[in-house]
This record gives sequence, structure tokens and C-alpha cells, in this order.
Amino acid sequence: MTSSFSPKPAERTADHAASIWVEFTTLAAETKAVNLGQGFPDSPAPKFVTDLLENLSKQPELTAAHQYTRGYGHPMLVDILAKMYSHFYNVQVDPMNEVLVTVGAYLSLYYAFLGWVNKGDEVLIIEPAYDCYYPQVKFAGGVPVPIVMNLAEGATSASQFTIDFDDMEKKINKKTKMLVINNPHNPTGKLFTRQELEKLAEIAKKHNLIVIADEVYEFHVWDKNDMVRFASLPGMYERTISIGSAGKAFSVTGWKLGWAVGPKQLLEPLKAIHQNCVFTCSTPTQMAIAQAFQLDWPKFLNDPKNSYLATGLSDELRDKRDKLARMLEEGNFRPIIPDAGYFMLADYSHLKEGLKLATEQDPDDFVFSRWLCREKKLAVIPPSAFYSSREQKEKNCNMVRLCYFKKNDTLDAAEVILKKLGKE
Ligand code: PMP
Ligand code: GLN
Repeated sequence: MTSSFSPKPAERTADHAASIWVEFTTLAAETKAVNLGQGFPDSPAPKFVTDLLENLSKQPELTAAHQYTRGYGHPMLVDILAKMYSHFYNVQVDPMNEVLVTVGAYLSLYYAFLGWVNKGDEVLIIEPAYDCYYPQVKFAGGVPVPIVMNLAEGATSASQFTIDFDDMEKKINKKTKMLVINNPHNPTGKLFTRQELEKLAEIAKKHNLIVIADEVYEFHVWDKNDMVRFASLPGMYERTISIGSAGKAFSVTGWKLGWAVGPKQLLEPLKAIHQNCVFTCSTPTQMAIAQAFQLDWPKFLNDPKNSYLATGLSDELRDKRDKLARMLEEGNFRPIIPDAGYFMLADYSHLKEGLKLATEQDPDDFVFSRWLCREKKLAVIPPSAFYSSREQKEKNCNMVRLCYFKKNDTLDAAEVILKKLGKE
């Protein structure tokens, strides 16, 4: 049937292709590949968390658990979040005014850009960068300004990603409104040091910037590495919107619950958008997450060995990180060892066979990742997707990103593939 109906979409969506998650998650499923691509744990979710939701679901008479709740966040959840972040930031966080619960960290980020960025305002984004920042800033009418991190030749540690602060300052002008910091960092697994964060704080203060601190992997830190929350630095709480995720904290990414924490003044515009777009998030999910924090938080403070957030999560991750690093070496990759989070980059330059199909159109890591998935049945993510310019994509296309928060069976299956690759 032919039709003359061909409406034009709004211009803001014009140049947006499918995100890497759409392409590579679909490809992994279609090829039935071992999936170390998209970041989510494939092991059972923590039972103490799912039990809480189960318990609510078994009580239909508990009407308050199944109907709309307070728009800006269930009182139980904002209360415990305020308590935790008051401790972390060493300020008094007001639960009713300084916490906003959203559908995943994604929406906190989007509200922050929509709420604060005017047409033409510039937003500094440290690259490689989580891939939604750039389009979200553009949707808000802003101009993303990439600050590309350097990685030393032959590097083996994510800590070797460094920011050129002078270059950053050169890119700041009257239109610069905001700086986005993602710590621990996706996709590199870098944990920014106190010194680096202090330098960023100094720049934010000097140029009067609002800071978005995406800290969704704040509990995925081990080996006594120091997770410095940006809002805890002197004078930074007042200019920072910190963003967290229950999906990350309790390894239930499908629950899609996140939050923004910051001074009332900074959260007001986010709330204006939230109340008219989403109004309120799922009630039982908020209650179960609130109860999970209520159970774990006292242990986090007083009995860390038995706390999921203080120890359980990071112990599990550290072992998996070490296992994946060994496997990658066997497979002839050069892993860049992460300090935090659940991703690892690895250089595949010794495995050029995967580039047989290279075309002009896509950066090499896209071609390699598709080949690895289709031909070797191992799904990964091409990290050039985390750079915005063609030039940087081409400069940074010799690695793949792998997620190691996977059950041992999955990692073992990946090991078989990697071992074979190493011998080819
Ligand atoms: N920020 C970063 C750095 C992420 O990796 C993710 C991926 N989950 C998000 C934000 C979004 O988190 P959520 O699933 O809670 O929306
Ligand atoms: N944050 C996860 C990752 O980096 C998942 C992203 C997504 O599916 N949108 O893999």
C-alpha cells in the first residue's frame, strides 16, 4: 500500500541513529553469543532484595504499596537515601527537598540537562563518555564539548587515563554552564583520584559551573580504593547534582530506579519536569529498595564484612575482574585493568583477523566486535561509541569493552572462546 503520509519528526531527533545497546544487544541475542557486552549481571539477583519485593507483592491488602506514592520519591526511600548521602557528603541532606527519585539514573541525567541547559549552553563531557550524555545534552538544546582523556601507549591500568586540565580550561568560555563527571567511569573502569577530583572542583569553582556527578558505580570499588564522592569535596555540594542507581547498587538493573541528590535550588527544575512527565516511580520497587538499604546500611557502617554494599558486591567483582583479565591475556588481548565498576577495556591489536571485513563506514572496533560476535560467538561493545567526533572514534578503535559482572558459567564459556583465539 502506498501512502502520501510522510510526517517530519522533530528536528531534535533528526541525526540520532540506533544506540549501541540496540545493535549489540540484539546481535548478541540473535547469534546466541556468550554475552560480555551490555552491562548487567546475569547471575541471580541478591535474594535479600528480591524477597522484599516478593513480600510486598503478596500483600494486596497493603494498598499503599500498590498505588501512587509521593511524586518526588517514596518517603521511606528518600529518608534512607538522605541519611546515607548525609554521611557520604558530610552535609545534612534534607530528604523532602534534596532527593528526587527517577526512572533509572538515565532520567536523573536527562532532567538535569533539560532543567539547566539552555539553547547554546556548553556542557563539558570527559571522553570516553557514557553514550547517553551527548544526545541528552543535544536534546536539551545544549552543545556538548568533549574533553578527551589521554591513555599512555602500552597502558595496562585504567588509572593511566588522564585529563589534560589545561586543555579543559582552554575549552571553557562564557557559554560553558556544566561539567559532567562519571566516577567510577564507564567504559574505562577508572576511579578518579582525590587529586584529580580536587582539580576538577577548582575548575568548577573558578568558572562557576554546575557539576553532574554520575556515580552509579559508587559501591563497585575494592582493594581499599578510595571512592571520593564529588559532592563531599569542600564547597562542592552546593553546585553538584549527584546521580545514583538502585539497579547498580543492588544488581537489579531491570528495576530501573535511580535518584538525583543535591541542594533544593539545583533540584527544583528537575522536579518541574518530573512532575509533568513521570509524576511518580513504581511504588513497590521504591519500597523494596528502601528496605534493602535499611537492612544493609547499618552493616555498611558497623559490620562491613556482612554488608552487600560495603563488601559483598566488591568481593564478587574483584574476583571476576581478575579472572577476565587472565582470560583476555590467554586470548592475546591486552587488558586495561579497571580499579572499579564492572567494565574492562582490552586492546585487540594482536588479533587483526577480525578486521578482514573492515569497511570505510565504521570504526574498526565496530567491525571487530561484530566479527567476534558472529564468528566466535563472544559479544562485546565497541568503545569508539563512547567518543563523539569521527577523529576520536578513529583514534580509539583498537579496543573492546567487556562486562565481567557475569556468572562463572558465562565467564567459563568466554574463556573457551578466548583460549581458542589465543592459539589461532
Ligand atoms: N550512567 C552510567 C555511567 C551507566 O553506566 C548507566 C547504565 N546503567 C547509567 C547511567 C544508567 O543507569 P540506570 O540503569 O539506573 O538508568
Ligand atoms: N549501562 C550499561 C552498560 O554500559 C547498560 C546500558 C544500556 O543498556 N543502555 O552496558
